[in-house]
Amino acid sequence: MQGSRTLARTPRDEGTPTRVEITLEVVSDYLHVGQGKATIPTGIESTNLDFNKVLAMFNRGDPLAYSQIDNLFADYNAFPRDSGKVIIPGSTVKGAVRTRLEMSIPNSCYIVDRTGNGKSPGYVKIFNPDQNKRSDNYAKGHSVNPGKVCPVCDLLGSPGLGSRVSFSDLVLTSGRLGVAEIDKMEYEVAMKGSRFSGFFLVNLKKNEIGAILYGLGIRCEAGKPFSRTILLGRFKFENPQFGRVKFTANLKDQEQCNQINDFVKEYRPKDIREV
Ligand SMILES: [Zn+2]
Repeated sequence: MQGSRTLARTPRDEGTPTRVEITLEVVSDYLHVGQGKATIPTGIESTNLDFNKVLAMFNRGDPLAYSQIDNLFADYNAFPRDSGKVIIPGSTVKGAVRTRLEMSIPNSCYIVDRTGNGKSPGYVKIFNPDQNKRSDNYAKGHSVNPGKVCPVCDLLGSPGLGSRVSFSDLVLTSGRLGVAEIDKMEYEVAMKGSRFSGFFLVNLKKNEIGAILYGLGIRCEAGKPFSRTILLGRFKFENPQFGRVKFTANLKDQEQCNQINDFVKEYRPKDIREV
């Protein structure tokens, strides 16, 4: 690795990071983000099960013991929480930004199968990934653009190359939770109109904020930022009732547009419409 990089590198920890507040709004009926899976009892109160008898079955290792109680429990996929707050993990947001930038920026590499999405027909239809662009040499650059560090890896990091940007978890600030059933499994979901807020930290270097805003689906037209709907979370490709979100950033319109326009001018990203 050492000596293979010819570009002058900017240290990862340069200067004081800029903090940009962002908000996500759920625009589909439901949003479920995976992480925690809990099994919860559903019918204990209404059962006339003889607990002493079942306990005795467990105690003597009776293989039929589980069958006595299985129907009292349901597989339940909870929304992630941290310290009691309902959250979308920062890593989920960062992953979404990375996917958009890798698909949009002509000279970036990408790792198609990182999440297994590369095989999903919905993913292929929307992003139309170019298999030739794929590279496992992404930290150093790749065949499309030899000798240059991929701009997405440069910003978001890769093995051996730290990230310039970090995303906080987004915390549910308004809206409500519900439960949706898919294939007899229950999923805790954030309902349409729910909002999550958090921030990202980035070093204030030309285009970096613009790149992140672009990766969050924010565009600019006639001096006004607007948000494209992007797909996030479970079932986004299979079920249009799931996984449609819009991001906004708490920055002045003019500044957002300056950042986004600078980014677009330099990288000529392909503007992918996901819905
Ligand atoms: Zn890359």
